[in-house]
Amino acid sequence: ALILGLESSCDETAAALVTTDRQVLAHKLARQEAAHRPYGGVVPEIAARAHVEAIGPLIQGAFEEAGVTLADVDAIAATAGPGLIGGVMVGLVTGKALALAGNKPLIAVNHLEGHGLSPRLTDPDLHFPYLLLLVSGGHCQLLLVEGVGRYKRLATTIDDAAGEAFDKTAKMLGLGFPGGPAVEAAAALGDPRAVPLPRPLLGSAEPHFSFAGLKSDVARKVGLYSAEDIAASFQQAVVDCLIDRTRRAIDKVDATALVVAGGVAANKAVRGALEQLAAESNLRFVAPPLWLCTDNAAMIGWAGAERFLAGFTDPLDVAARPRWPLDPDAEKVRGAGV
Ligand code: ATP
Ligand code: MG
Ligand code: FE
Repeated sequence: ALILGLESSCDETAAALVTTDRQVLAHKLARQEAAHRPYGGVVPEIAARAHVEAIGPLIQGAFEEAGVTLADVDAIAATAGPGLIGGVMVGLVTGKALALAGNKPLIAVNHLEGHGLSPRLTDPDLHFPYLLLLVSGGHCQLLLVEGVGRYKRLATTIDDAAGEAFDKTAKMLGLGFPGGPAVEAAAALGDPRAVPLPRPLLGSAEPHFSFAGLKSDVARKVGLYSAEDIAASFQQAVVDCLIDRTRRAIDKVDATALVVAGGVAANKAVRGALEQLAAESNLRFVAPPLWLCTDNAAMIGWAGAERFLAGFTDPLDVAARPRWPLDPDAEKVRGAGV
């Protein structure tokens, strides 16, 4: 089956055509970095307007690249949340319009499920259940992925997400926006042992992550050390926290593989350390290729493909959701955001 995937939850607009047998026939992406750079972060109103302008030509381009038309598509998968609501609505309403016009089923995809299932697009041997470290701009969670739509949250951040910490560190160091790749590039030129920085919750009996304390300590070190040394030491502190918390989770669950996904999974220090942890733990390690880590529509198309095969489709009046946890039961226990 052929699935059209649409993504517009943050500052990337994207359209992709993906098959249920793991072929990416086309993937198109428009970044809005230049539009948001003067503000040092994503401005929701600017993002929503840019999505409106970009999405039509991207879908057209994807159809042309794949040599297919709407008639050839079996289902339309659009991100329905979580994310900036104005942006999410653009992709979801476009998906609804195409579903209505082409008489195709609509699949409302959770953006986080898109990240979480993306490793299965490029690795056919990745089977459930697997331990997922989801590290992105808005999230830092450990989840046991038991199947499509079946997630048990083991840990989350009690304050900032890992990607958010990268972005704020980049801003404090004057490295620009978006921050993750800039911090990684600066870190390559610095000494990871040069700047003493805290590792919040390292060794803690509770399962969660925390990055706010690290961020405020970075703020105190700005100007006292080179940007490169701060970047390298910050990145090492994040890696140490991610590894410590993931090691703790590995001991608690029965998983077939350790998997990382989300924008921060594009970071080579993060990938390398997790790969080593997996080897020590006798687990397979799976990380998506770099282009599939940050936001894209191929992962939404793929999550749509998995849902389509499982028989999950959604009514045309399905709502866009600014918040949409993968494991709602876990959110009830700790409250919003935790
Ligand atoms: P979410 O998926 O939680 O809704 P998002 O969609 O904005 O948030 P992603 O696109 O998955 O986030 O990831 C973007 C984040 O990944 C940003 O915070 C960015 O700084 C970070 N990031 C991207 N590349 C790298 C890298 N090479 N090293 C570290 N962080 C990175
Ligand atoms: Mg983005
Ligand atoms: Fe994302």
